[in-house]
Amino acid sequence: MRVLVVEDEELLAAGLREGLEAEGFAVDTAATGTDGLWLAREQPYAAIVLDVMLPGIDGYRLCATLRAEGVWTPVLMLTARDAERDEVHGLDAGADDYLAKPFSYAVLVARLRALLRRDTHERPAQLGAGDLVLDPAAKTVRRGGTEIGLTAREFALLELMLRRRGETLSKHEILGQVWDFAFEGDPNIVEVYVRRLRNKVDRPFGRAAIETVRGSGYRLDEHGG
Ligand code: CA
Repeated sequence: MRVLVVEDEELLAAGLREGLEAEGFAVDTAATGTDGLWLAREQPYAAIVLDVMLPGIDGYRLCATLRAEGVWTPVLMLTARDAERDEVHGLDAGADDYLAKPFSYAVLVARLRALLRRDTHERPAQLGAGDLVLDPAAKTVRRGGTEIGLTAREFALLELMLRRRGETLSKHEILGQVWDFAFEGDPNIVEVYVRRLRNKVDRPFGRAAIETVRGSGYRLDEHGG
């Protein structure tokens, strides 16, 4: 799940990136409203964390502009403390939720997950294919009754494949969704992670849910293999 953070306070932006990456999100950041608007138009984000007071275009205008253009990416607005009028204004501009500064990361992540579930795509609380079940909030994966330990990146890859189960995902698309927009390493990293995931969720159970689609990419069998 790729998230855009638009925040001009450097420390806060870095903290948000770190915190969200630890939760398995791929994170792009923008330090001005202008850059944020450009990225939000160009990239298919799962959600946007948007500060109100920004250089260039402010958060309200950014959000209202996106909505006017038909971009419905869920927006979580970061407002100044106790600013009730900010909140009303933010919702008028088309934000889906707001959070007053200072906030705890736990609350931010919970709100973000709630927004992702509310998105127009199917976002059930638990994702499953056959007996393979992933719980995005609890950060757990089970096959049958067995709990499987995954790293944050492996988890993010499996979450993407489960959300899009039955669909073929190209390496390029996986890179864009699970790694950063700015990822410049070897795209074969996807292969490496697919292999690791198979070794954890398929092989020990005698399954083959993660299929290679020759020349196209990977697909997760809807029935869990
Ligand atoms: Ca600010």
